[in-house]
Amino acid sequence: MDFARLIELVRIAEALGHASAEVVSILDGHALVIASLGRKVLQPRALTASENRLLGSPAGHARVGRSLSFAVRSKDGTLVGALTLSDDVQAIAVDGLYAVARLIAEVLLHHPPEADHDASVALLDAMRDPIVVLDSCLVLSYASQNVSTLLGRSARELTGTSAIDFIHPDDVALAADAITRLVAGREVYRSLLRIRHGSGQYVRIEVTGNDRTHDPRIRGVVLSLRSGDRDLELADELERERSLLAAVLDQLHEGVVATDLTGIPTVVNQAAKALHRLPRDARVSDISLAQIALWDAEHSPVAPADHPVSRVLSGEHIAGQPYSIYAEDGTVRHVVISGRPVVNAQGEQVASALAYHDATQARATEGHLRDRALQDPLTGLANRQQLTERLSRLCDATTPMLIGICFIDLDGFKRVNDTLGHAVGDEVLRTVARRLLAELRPSDLLARLGGDEFVAVLTDTPDTCASAAIAERLRAAINKPFVIDGTAVTISASVGVAMEMSSDLQQDRLLRHADLALYSAKAGGKDRVEFFGDHLADAAEGQHRQVQFLRDTLDRNQLVMHFQPTVHIATGAVLSVESLARCRRNDGTLVDPSYFLPAAITSGLISALDRHAFDLSCQAAVALQARFPDRLVPIACNFGSLTVSEPRFADDVHATLSRYGLTPDRICIEITEHTAFALSERSNEALCQLATAGVHLVLDDFGTGYNSLTNLRDLPFAAIKVDPSLSSGPERNLSDKVIAEAVVRLADSLTLTVIAEGVESLAQLERAQALGFQVAQGFHYSRPLPLDRLLSLLSSPPVGWPFPPAEPATPPR
Ligand code: C2E
Ligand code: CA
Ligand code: CA
Repeated sequence: MDFARLIELVRIAEALGHASAEVVSILDGHALVIASLGRKVLQPRALTASENRLLGSPAGHARVGRSLSFAVRSKDGTLVGALTLSDDVQAIAVDGLYAVARLIAEVLLHHPPEADHDASVALLDAMRDPIVVLDSCLVLSYASQNVSTLLGRSARELTGTSAIDFIHPDDVALAADAITRLVAGREVYRSLLRIRHGSGQYVRIEVTGNDRTHDPRIRGVVLSLRSGDRDLELADELERERSLLAAVLDQLHEGVVATDLTGIPTVVNQAAKALHRLPRDARVSDISLAQIALWDAEHSPVAPADHPVSRVLSGEHIAGQPYSIYAEDGTVRHVVISGRPVVNAQGEQVASALAYHDATQARATEGHLRDRALQDPLTGLANRQQLTERLSRLCDATTPMLIGICFIDLDGFKRVNDTLGHAVGDEVLRTVARRLLAELRPSDLLARLGGDEFVAVLTDTPDTCASAAIAERLRAAINKPFVIDGTAVTISASVGVAMEMSSDLQQDRLLRHADLALYSAKAGGKDRVEFFGDHLADAAEGQHRQVQFLRDTLDRNQLVMHFQPTVHIATGAVLSVESLARCRRNDGTLVDPSYFLPAAITSGLISALDRHAFDLSCQAAVALQARFPDRLVPIACNFGSLTVSEPRFADDVHATLSRYGLTPDRICIEITEHTAFALSERSNEALCQLATAGVHLVLDDFGTGYNSLTNLRDLPFAAIKVDPSLSSGPERNLSDKVIAEAVVRLADSLTLTVIAEGVESLAQLERAQALGFQVAQGFHYSRPLPLDRLLSLLSSPPVGWPFPPAEPATPPR
């Protein structure tokens, strides 16, 4: 049995497993402990539960509670032994433990335990010092395996030869005399003899004898041999053990680094050399602590005092801590390091040992998953979350720098989607992403916030001029034609730019400013770059005030509805009334929508406003119904696109109607052409469902937006309100007139009511009539009125329009 090797293997298993380890040979259901805690012990003990499992299972290892056994099997698969570890078994080391188990198997198979031989022989074999047995003719009847370490000759070579052949001629007499005395007196005998080594040299051997001639199992003199030159032998043995250990360690997947008590590396296995980018043939004596440097999770180099080696040397146990190792070429490996002090049999610390687990691959997979969470799936650009993270990191930058944000929005992208299909739209977006990226530096970040909205973060821009140049390049990059399936498509983009120093960067503010600049670029005619500046800052301030005002109005229940009739031109009959929102100020005066609506839309308060307005309109409808039970005068309510897009929109409308006991025909829903154009399929379905239930849909502001008749196809409108520019206003050109006539004719053939909006005067009314309009709404008939005045208008059929005006709403001071 190669004990030195087994002991080293046990040591390694302990270091890898952070556990106590034992090597046992398993025979006939009994365990013979061969090595334990780094010492050979050779004693029988009962099998542990996990070894019992191992006996029953063909698996490579078995685990019970906190102990883990690895099978040591012969080539034919029979279990010859086990490596058992208990307590604190680390999963990361399992690979390494397998390797150790394999090596143990080799040792055991090379020297199979001979437990079914005579136990004394097994024990003799297991003794530290070589043993030989001489029969009465001084012939060697037995030599233990380890005799070769001392005599340079194998046990087989020696067995059956005469001892006299190996004893120095000058010592033969001495030897013979000694043996004679031993046999006669049965006393323990010790003497120093020169014995011929396998190399031909004589070595001094201390021989201790014990007469066993009368023991039938031995029948001879048992001699224990020991080097007379202990120091040399030990040094030799140590060197052999050391190189064996190195060879074993080099087979492990885990990196292993051990140092002496001063922190000088004594073991750096191949895996550790590879991780630290040290040459394969680097001698451990040439490796310094600096060459096994580590970096912490913050990418900072670990100070020598905090190096795991130093920590372990000061007695600390390290369990699975993450570190990185950077190479000169910038590549990085991520490792998880465990370490503990190495103690000798007396429990004194003699070294430090670290095990490295290479986690680079795992980190890369993790990183990949994380990237996906931070990426826009369509373009692979950063998503909103990554943008937020980048900006927060820039806020923390130690050296202040100028940060620029470019908000990029494609002009009329929806048209591409609608006319060429979503697949083409997606391809355009991917191309846009590529073109924009090509204009940016690697340190900049490009994100897509959804739809056709992109954001570029320009880090460390020298000045406004540089940012302006970049923004202009971004805009121009999009302007180049896109060739899709052989057709060239041109789109433009509007860009809003805002800048701040990283030291006083506030994400929300910076993004808002860029967004305002973008808004202004769009309002200013699109296909242009706009910078956030004082003029927009004032506008932002104004907007902020408006939002605050609207919020207060809603909080204090100060929303008021006014109602304006739509009138059948020929008979003067009121066909419906439109409810229009106003905000009441503290002094009782009213503010009309032109002041608060833009802020309501940009702040998202529009849906709260619409709900509230709808509720008040339903109350008015109840009042109308109570007052005129036999007349049906529906109230037309305006809804913004955000409100209509809410998933619960249709349900909420139904719920409110039923709360007030109203049938759906008591209300109309007005959405502008602009809103209708932008609605999703789902919102269209919700509106269709409401229409089927009996709610009339009205397409508002027709002629101001896209003049798109596709809306009439997609949604079951009952009426169209045509903007004064087309219906009653001064004719700008012939085409307006032609369009208006065509719309009226089309609506007629679709049996839709067409309403001329904003009819202020008789002249305008006549113009509308001439175009074919039969219904009109406008100051000519009545201004929007409070409910009580509307009721009186309806109760006394107006003798002559216009109906006297209500107090006009005034803008806030
Ligand atoms: P709209 O839906 O097109 O409503 C008609 C607007 O034209 C009303 O302005 C009305 O007062 C005004 N108007 C009516 N006749 C004439 C006329 O002869 N000449 C002129 N110059 N104007 C006339 P108002 O009340 O200021 O409302 C403006 C817009 O605000 C509305 O336009 C509507 O889009 C929106 N709005 C009003 N109330 C609400 C609401 O509760 N929710 C939503 N989402 N939008 C609302
Ligand atoms: Ca309207
Ligand atoms: Ca309108």
